[in-house]
Amino acid sequence: MTLLLPPSTAGSLPKPSWLAQPQTLWSPWKLQGDALIEGKRDALRLALDDQLQAGIEIVSDGEQTRQHFVTTFIEHLDGVDFEKRETVRIRDRYDASVPTVVGAVSRPHPVFVEDARFLRQQTKQPIKWALPGPMTMVDTLFDTHYKSREKLAWAFAEILNQEARELEAAGVDIIQFDEPAFNVFFDEVNDWGVAVLEKAAEGLRCETAVHICYGYGIRANTEWKKTLGSQWRQYEEAFPKLQTSSLDIISLECHNSRVPMDLIELIRGKKVMVGAIDVASSVIETPEEVAGTLRKALQFVDADKLYPCTNCGMAPLSREVAMAKLRALGAGAAIVRRELLG
Ligand SMILES: [Zn+2]
Repeated sequence: MTLLLPPSTAGSLPKPSWLAQPQTLWSPWKLQGDALIEGKRDALRLALDDQLQAGIEIVSDGEQTRQHFVTTFIEHLDGVDFEKRETVRIRDRYDASVPTVVGAVSRPHPVFVEDARFLRQQTKQPIKWALPGPMTMVDTLFDTHYKSREKLAWAFAEILNQEARELEAAGVDIIQFDEPAFNVFFDEVNDWGVAVLEKAAEGLRCETAVHICYGYGIRANTEWKKTLGSQWRQYEEAFPKLQTSSLDIISLECHNSRVPMDLIELIRGKKVMVGAIDVASSVIETPEEVAGTLRKALQFVDADKLYPCTNCGMAPLSREVAMAKLRALGAGAAIVRRELLG
């Protein structure tokens, strides 16, 4: 990657209202059959175009073909029964009815590889593709087969590694694993979470990233954030282990959060995707605000390793707000890039 301060997003973007109900998580599709397949592709092209127009340089599919960043991947696996549901507490934060692991998990066919190939055909820009991380997958299921979070996570890591290798072959430049669970289960992160994540990324020649955030701007998350006090130091728990891990890039929430910026020092040497856009608010950042967040981060990460980004996915926002935030991100990165190039 030779671009300086290349902006990207954490992953999801809002879907067009003809494809799915706007501003809703797990929003049902409005199309069916072949029309749905065509609609998802059209939405993917629009999401790409929105990013390019806003000056986003590392582009993604905007997760237009998935209903949810974890569930959609799991739906394509064997060993998980979506009819058999149990209520569990997700990330120690809110109860949800989830599917049950009833047997050995496996991936009978590729999940996102065709979509990635399609995106690759549309652009020469670097592509980042998000997959759920193993620990976060485990945390959204009820398990009657492995009876061990760690064992189930290792099984998912094998599957994710198969998918990631095929995404790489399809031309993806950065594979990102979303692990919001890393901000909650600190003992597990250090006991096995990072090791399992490295297994998921094993043997990849493309760059690898892990995204750790404080979640979408949904109520359960904003209520939880209120309990975290004046300084959010959760990253302190996982960073030392991640600093020595094989992962290339760490993607973080920064803007408007109470994360002390100096925690980035703990991953010195890694590339850092700095969240400079708040996804839990519809207030549009100014380019100067984005630049301010990036300048602060530059105290702790070298310029050639700083990747401006959003705090998290923007799926729950309105399309209009998300587009304006993308533009602010692109413009804010351009301000700091000009400063660095003198
Ligand atoms: Zn996130």
